Amino acid sequence: MERRSLLKAGGLLAMAQITGMSTLSALARLGAQLPATQRMPAMFVGHGSPMNAIEDNMYSKSWHAMGKKLPRPSAILSVSAHWLTKGTKVTGMARPRTIHDFGGFPKKLFDQQYPAPGSPEYAALAMKMVSHTHLLADDSWGLDHGTWSVLLPMYPAADIPVFQLSIDYDQPPKYHYQIGKELNKLRDKGVLIIGSGNIVHNLGMLDFSGGSNKAFDWAKEFDSRFTEWIDKGDHASAMNYQQLLGTTARMAHPTYDHLLPLFYILGLQQKNEKITYFNDRFDMGSISMRSLIVSA
Ligand code: ZN
Repeated sequence: MERRSLLKAGGLLAMAQITGMSTLSALARLGAQLPATQRMPAMFVGHGSPMNAIEDNMYSKSWHAMGKKLPRPSAILSVSAHWLTKGTKVTGMARPRTIHDFGGFPKKLFDQQYPAPGSPEYAALAMKMVSHTHLLADDSWGLDHGTWSVLLPMYPAADIPVFQLSIDYDQPPKYHYQIGKELNKLRDKGVLIIGSGNIVHNLGMLDFSGGSNKAFDWAKEFDSRFTEWIDKGDHASAMNYQQLLGTTARMAHPTYDHLLPLFYILGLQQKNEKITYFNDRFDMGSISMRSLIVSA
């Protein structure tokens, strides 16, 4: 789509909240007319340190390789651990800004931009697909580092439209899982859906002296129990992790923001689809970098 019409569509989506649903419906109709494509896989990515965006390391290398291996998406929808809201929002702007939502890192990380266009049409389509809650159009967020730190190595040209879905932190896992389920058909429109977080994430327990791939026992236990549930397709137990893993869950996730994106991706898995892991290792003792792809 040309830049001028993109900008117009972005403005329309923001206005749709004010002027009622007709503009949104018109945009969603536009989105619905977008061609069917080869069905896209879905991914959960353990993003870890923001420095992975600009360092040449095993994580950034794996994301780069993934960008070359996957079919080229028409658009990317990112559910990032770093956008928590009341209610669930979708970015609808045509030109999302790059958000540097971290502190204490080198200037070159703050200088980094990810100038990918937004996707008002796909955002409107996503809003129409979800019925169990009312998704809200957002025109103030952009791309936070949960999104761009992965996409910079993965699609360095920043020429694929990207939009984000926020996480309503007050909601239980089932709510996030259900939204994932309802967004499934976006994958037939060429949208690559990425959940960006970490399966184990305890920043207070980072062990900077820890050797490569070492981890605390509770980190290993949480990671392996979750993997078992995923492998068995036992999503009910995964959603019940707080009751089933108790103290281990509280150690693995003092807050749950980095785990919640995973539930969207599990919700997207269909009966005929398998899970493939990558980067299944630990960083600094208390971060699981385990990542996965859902595909037929
Ligand atoms: Zn993070």
